[in-house]
Amino acid sequence: MIPRAHREVPEAFCAPGPAALGACRRRASRGLAAVIDAHHHVWDLRVRDQDWITGPSLAPLRRNFSAADYRAAAPGVIASVVVQTVTVPEETPELLAQGFAGVVGWTDLTAPDVADQIARLRGLPGGGALAGIRHQVQSEPDPGWLTRPDVLRGLAAVADASLVYDLVITAGQLAAAAAAAAAVPQLRFVLDHLGKPPIVVGQVSPWAADLRRLAALPNTSAKLSGLVTEADWRHWQVADLRPYADTALDAFGPDRLMFGSDWPVCTLAAGYDDVLAAARDLTAALSPAEREAIFSGTAQRIYGLRTGPVPP
Ligand SMILES: [Zn+2]
Repeated sequence: MIPRAHREVPEAFCAPGPAALGACRRRASRGLAAVIDAHHHVWDLRVRDQDWITGPSLAPLRRNFSAADYRAAAPGVIASVVVQTVTVPEETPELLAQGFAGVVGWTDLTAPDVADQIARLRGLPGGGALAGIRHQVQSEPDPGWLTRPDVLRGLAAVADASLVYDLVITAGQLAAAAAAAAAVPQLRFVLDHLGKPPIVVGQVSPWAADLRRLAALPNTSAKLSGLVTEADWRHWQVADLRPYADTALDAFGPDRLMFGSDWPVCTLAAGYDDVLAAARDLTAALSPAEREAIFSGTAQRIYGLRTGPVPP
C-alpha cells in the first residue's frame, strides 16, 4: 500500500516514539510529505573496524554513528532502511536488533547454504526486518562477478526468500547488473546511488544508456541516493545533480525510484537536511502522488515495510 497522504499512515508507521510521531504530525500539518529513507548506515568502531574508511578524505567517517545519531540527524523520517557496510556475518544480526523498519544485510551469495543462512538471519531477534541482501560488488575484481553461476544461484535463493537484492556497483558494472537482472527475473533488484555516475566530471554518457538498459527490465528499481558524494564535495550544486536525477526519473519513473540519504556517508559532502532538500528540489516538478512515491511509497512497497520499526 502506498500512503496517499501522511495523515493516512498508520500511527505505528510513525514509530520509534512519541517525539517522532509528533514530528510526523507537525510535518503533515505543514503539508510536507512523509519521508521513508531507503538507504542509510550505522556503525560502531568499538564493535568492529570499517576497513573501507581509509585515507584522509574519509577521515570524518572514522567515528561511531549510532541509531540515536541517525534519528537526531533525520527527525522527520518515519521509517528507514539500514544497509550493511562490511562483508562479515556478524554485522547483519546487529543491524536487525536495532529496530529499523528494514535491513539490507549481507550473506555470502556463493555459499552452498545461502538459503539456510537467510533463514538463520530471519530467526534472529528483529529478523522480521530483513528486507534485502547486498554485497560490495563494486570491490570485486571480476567485472562479471554478478553473472557467475554460483552468484546467480545465490541471487535465486534471495528471490526464493522474497528478499530484495541491493546493487552497489560502479557505473562500469551496470551492464553486468542488467545481465544478472535478466538472468534472475523473479528477483527485485534495487540499484544504489544510481550506479555511481561520474557527476564530479559532469559526464553523462555512457552511464545514461547503461542505466536505461537496466531500467528496461521490470524487476529493477533504484535509489535517488549517494549523488552528493559523487559530485564535488565542497562545491556541488543541485544543478550538478539534475541531469542524473532527470535521467533516472525518465528511466525508472517515480514508482521505481526511492529517496535515500546515504547518511552518514553523505556528510562528506552535505548534511542530512541538505541532501533531503536537494532531493525535493530535483523532484519539485512532479505531481504530489509522484513525489510521495519517491519519498515513501516506492520504498514501502519494494522493501515490504508494512509496519514501523521492529522492536529488538
Ligand atoms: Zn550507502
